[in-house]
Formats: sequence, C-alpha cells, structure tokens
Amino acid sequence: MEKKKLVVANWKMNPKTLSEAQELASAVRQEAFEAEVVLCPPYPFIASLKSLGAQDCGWEQSGAYTGEVSPAQLKDLGCEYVILGHSERKKYFGETREMVNKKAQAAMQAGLTPVMCIGENIEQEMEIALVGTDPTRLVLVYEPEWAISTAEHFKEVTPEDCKIAVDAMRKQFEGPILYGGSVDSRNVARFFQRGGVQGVLVGSASLDAHEFIQLVKNAVLA
Ligand code: PEP
Repeated sequence: MEKKKLVVANWKMNPKTLSEAQELASAVRQEAFEAEVVLCPPYPFIASLKSLGAQDCGWEQSGAYTGEVSPAQLKDLGCEYVILGHSERKKYFGETREMVNKKAQAAMQAGLTPVMCIGENIEQEMEIALVGTDPTRLVLVYEPEWAISTAEHFKEVTPEDCKIAVDAMRKQFEGPILYGGSVDSRNVARFFQRGGVQGVLVGSASLDAHEFIQLVKNAVLA
C-alpha cells in the first residue's frame, strides 16, 4: 500500500488565544483525511489540543535550561513530530546548523521524528544535519527562506525548482522529503505531481480552516 502523504501545519506564533486554537484544530479534525496531518501549534497549546507536532525543542531532556522545552516533554504530551531548523529560528534566534543537529539527535533519543528544514545550501546543510541521526526516522523539508509567504525578498519556487532540489537531496537521503514555502490549496497538487515530494510543510495557509482543509483534500487527490 502506498504511504500516506504527510501534511505538516506550522502555525508559528498563532493564533493569539487557546480558544481560537481549539476552534481551528477541531474544524480540521472533523474531516477524515487520507493523509497524515500534523498540527504544530505553539507550545502552550500542545497539551490541550493533543497535537502530534511541535515547532522546535531543546537538545537536553531536562535540567537547568530556562525557557527550553525538551523532546522528552513533548513526547510525554503525545507529540510524534518536531519541526527543526526553520529559517525563522536561524534568522531571529541565532540557531546554527550544529544546534539543529544536536536537537535532532535529542529528539530521536526521545522517540520523536524530526521534520528538518533544509534551505539554501543543500549539500553543506545536509552534511551537518544528518550527523549521528538515524536517517530511517527522519523527515526532511526543502524550504528556502525566500519562498516563505512572509519573506522580505520573496521569490517563487516552482515545482520544477523543487524537483531539482529534491533530486540533490536524494543523493544523501532516502526517506520522506517535503516541500515548504507558500503552499496553498491552489498550488499544492503541482508539488506532488511534479516536485518529487511526499508531503508539504504549510505556514499561512494552515491558519484558515477552510483553506487548509481544501489544501489537504487537494494533496490527497494529487
Ligand atoms: C513555513 O514558514 O514553514 C511556511 C511553510 O510558511 P508559508 O506556507 O506561509 O510560506
């Protein structure tokens, strides 16, 4: 049987209240999708929403690390996936590839599957990203920062551009590869049909229940 497509929703620092988050999650969950849909809300909402995903984690499992959240804690709340190495974490919080790799190793030790973003320098980034990890329990995302819908210097990535990047990633990695960057209900099918990916990472379009549900349906049909 073909493996289900993976749709990961990165809510970033949205929505502002728990009740809005509950409304969005329950609207999405009313649908029975033939896809693996992973909602990644902000940390404070994870327990209440029983979400499968988180947007980041620390690289220690417990201890004196003020402000950090450990992979073990996320696993205990029921998370299965954690997004790591997002370009916004590099840009605004000074994350390096080495830090992301430490987080990936810790996430795997806790039994989480890292959904690791690879952006602009595919070969160099992957070399660091994969050190000490089990590639059979990893998901990679091709997500260059210029393709994100809120990018200052936005540049479109076509499914053909995506395919070139995915082919380059395939030289070092056999597992699932997703595409992230301005995916919406209108363009999602093309990334599956021509971009060579097994899933998508969705930001802005995951914050509107109607749009996101349509996006997942179109992904399933692609
Ligand atoms: C993202 O930043 O992970 C993302 C996919 O954002 P958007 O869909 O808004 O481009």
